Amino acid sequence: MKEIKCSVIQDLLPLYIDGVVSDDTKSLVKEHLLTCEICRNEYEQMKETLYVPIENKATLFSKLNKRWNRKKWVLILGSVLTTILLGFAVFSFIFYYAKPIPYTTDLFQMEETADGMLVLNYFGESHAGTYMTHPIEVEIDGEQKKISLVYYDETIAHSPTSNFLLEDKRIGSEPLQLVNSDTVDAIYYGYFDLDKVTKEKAQTWEELLESMTLIWERE
Ligand SMILES: [Zn+2]
Repeated sequence: MKEIKCSVIQDLLPLYIDGVVSDDTKSLVKEHLLTCEICRNEYEQMKETLYVPIENKATLFSKLNKRWNRKKWVLILGSVLTTILLGFAVFSFIFYYAKPIPYTTDLFQMEETADGMLVLNYFGESHAGTYMTHPIEVEIDGEQKKISLVYYDETIAHSPTSNFLLEDKRIGSEPLQLVNSDTVDAIYYGYFDLDKVTKEKAQTWEELLESMTLIWERE
């Protein structure tokens, strides 16, 4: 067989390295490389730059990918956790410190003024908010009654940050005008969530009132 020109062999080298040549071409190139040093050097050089085994490529890529993914997940998890923790901290901060003030006769006293107004006097140091309802007509044990509900809550009243959270914080022992005694049959003190009773029906009026304290009743 006539000897093939080096330039032809070198043209074929990339294909040879990639292994996409026919068996005949393969043995031709192989044979030539055994005898020609120039082409052999060319081949060795080209092989190093071209030859990245498919498997290694994949492994390298997936390794990088995995590492990046892990990094990304750590970042995502980190920020999610931070958000949850922050939310929880704020949530518990507010809910731990904003809680209904339990009824005691030392702290609260009902009073009826001369013109029939019912007034609740609070003797505590401070409170955050007051919650009360207008007279509500409810059926309790088969009887129609007009009742009014009220409670105070407190927060971190003595902390400097409390002004920040609650602008309506007041110093206590301020009389709270409830309703005129003509308009109600009874007044209850204690935490209430009217949605639970009226909308969600998760609680009956009887259950709610049982958890509260009767502080005034028409005689
Ligand atoms: Zn050659």
